[in-house]
Amino acid sequence: MNKILSLFCSAMLLIVSTIQSSHAIEPSIKVLIVDGQNNHNWKATTPVLKTHLEQTKLFTVDVATSPARGSDGFSPKFSAYDVVVMNYNGDDWSKETQKDFEAFVENGGGLVIYHAADNSFPSWKAYNEMIGLGGWGGRNEKDGPYIRYRDGKVVRDETPGGGGSHGAQHAYVVQHIDTEHPVTKGLPSKWRHASDELYDRLRGPAKNLHVLAIAYSDKKTGGTGENEPVLFTIEYGKGRVFHTVMGHDVSQIQCVGFAVTFQRGTEWAATGKVTQSLPKEYPTEEEVLSIK
Ligand code: ZN
Repeated sequence: MNKILSLFCSAMLLIVSTIQSSHAIEPSIKVLIVDGQNNHNWKATTPVLKTHLEQTKLFTVDVATSPARGSDGFSPKFSAYDVVVMNYNGDDWSKETQKDFEAFVENGGGLVIYHAADNSFPSWKAYNEMIGLGGWGGRNEKDGPYIRYRDGKVVRDETPGGGGSHGAQHAYVVQHIDTEHPVTKGLPSKWRHASDELYDRLRGPAKNLHVLAIAYSDKKTGGTGENEPVLFTIEYGKGRVFHTVMGHDVSQIQCVGFAVTFQRGTEWAATGKVTQSLPKEYPTEEEVLSIK
């Protein structure tokens, strides 16, 4: 009798656990945030980026922190992840780590370039192809064109000059010029970003680069008088790259517009799709909205 009872109990437990597991939503996209060197506050921004991603319940997030100087022994297992988020602007990696990273993206790994990560590695050719556009580090016309949006068209501007600058921080309007891309689809097409640096004069190979959003860089705030790309994608081999130039520090990445485009861009880079529902609240063209 006892034997029958215990068999019955085991069967019930199995049924219950099967039901539970089929109902639980498991985060399935594996993300690696890379940090450790940056002229920006990476120790404070990485945990916020991680929280943004985890809140979607789609991602599990690990962090790979490089040594404070050099790159000795730094060789994250990129291939164990679906997408790498770069919060790194620092010393060159070893040739081996560079090759691993190139193979990861080439074979279909996702990549997210966040703010000053596009300042990094000015002489690593493949990295510059992945980021599409970069700034500082001696970048100039040898690295590729500026990308501008003039008269409703994205144009390559080969004018000689330095790559990378920004005016004074201010709240600026982000305008989506592709409203059908999975990252932007359904979001308000104009929204005011929290006071931030507006990167301008970025230049790079800009191969297979697609601009999702621009912002007008006003000369009054020390800008270029051009519409500068602020959200864009790059195809590199089989890999998808999402690049956001926004997010100088914590207050800038607490902007709801930054957070939502970052969450959607990371999912898109990993899978080619965006399954996240649209946010209930969003900044308007006039008003900034930040996460409390
Ligand atoms: Zn910055």
